[in-house]
Amino acid sequence: MAIQLVTTAAELRDASARLLSHKQGRSQGLVPTMGALHEGHATLARTAVEQNDVVVASIFVNPLQFGDAVDLDRYPRTLDADVALLEEQGVDLVFAPSVDEVYPGGEPQVRVTAGALGEKWEGASRPGHFDGALTVVAKLLHYGTPGAGLPPSGAFVSGGGGGLPSYRAYFGQKDAQQLALVRRMVADLNFPVDIVAVPTVRSGDGLALSSRNRFLSEEQREAALVLSRALRLVEERAEAHEPLDPDSVRAMVASQPLVELDYFDVVDPRTLEPLAENCRKVPFRGEGLAIIAARVGPVRLIDNVPLSS
Ligand code: AMP
Repeated sequence: MAIQLVTTAAELRDASARLLSHKQGRSQGLVPTMGALHEGHATLARTAVEQNDVVVASIFVNPLQFGDAVDLDRYPRTLDADVALLEEQGVDLVFAPSVDEVYPGGEPQVRVTAGALGEKWEGASRPGHFDGALTVVAKLLHYGTPGAGLPPSGAFVSGGGGGLPSYRAYFGQKDAQQLALVRRMVADLNFPVDIVAVPTVRSGDGLALSSRNRFLSEEQREAALVLSRALRLVEERAEAHEPLDPDSVRAMVASQPLVELDYFDVVDPRTLEPLAENCRKVPFRGEGLAIIAARVGPVRLIDNVPLSS
């Protein structure tokens, strides 16, 4: 069936209910995005299609999470290409609401607050970013709830033991702090959805795919490769049970003139607290997450790699 593009919550509810009923679907997946889609998003969509009977992808550039109006204005918008890419992956429904549809009374008064976990790392240089991001993710998780618009007649035939279809939402490991926060929100506020993490998709030379990479010149893109090289180095040290020696990694990144390092550290994957001594001088053991952020020309880049040893 051809992909359907809907722009209102009411249309989404109806279309999702019709599809679930038509397919006798037992599960629905939601893939939230801001558009300007690339192979990273396509991988999220394909994973959702493999695991669910009905898949909704949302495309919404959320003003609430942009501190900088210029960044918001220049965020790439490529709806036709995005819909085509999602159709190729087998997505059923694209939900691309306007700002007025999502925030009909202007900016919402009541919001989700990310708490201390939202104030460190990315939150430190983008105040309010995660409050805005979590607020829209909460709304999108509600919009994408399967069966929300099922007719009272119960035309929908549930699989298994009855009840509503299962609900999963897909997020990239690339945005590790966002992923950790979404997991916390869903746990802390009892959202009835399973969060599925999808590993970071990279280009052949190692650069993590990002909608913002298009703003890099060739020279800046080449320089940006130091981020993934730094993470690879730490990964190799972890695999070899060597000390991770973060200072040497920071020095390596700082030596690249076009790259302005913001942070590099090795942290607990859930709390994002630094794993201090364990990774400096003694061999690394356990679970960790190496995280890095840097400005390269006009773009702020983030990347990370899970460590296990
Ligand atoms: P965005 O449109 O940038 O807000 O991203 C939408 C979703 O795609 C988020 O869950 C991101 O973490 C995920 N994503 C973005 N880039 C990648 C990538 N290179 N690999 C995997 N997932 C990604």
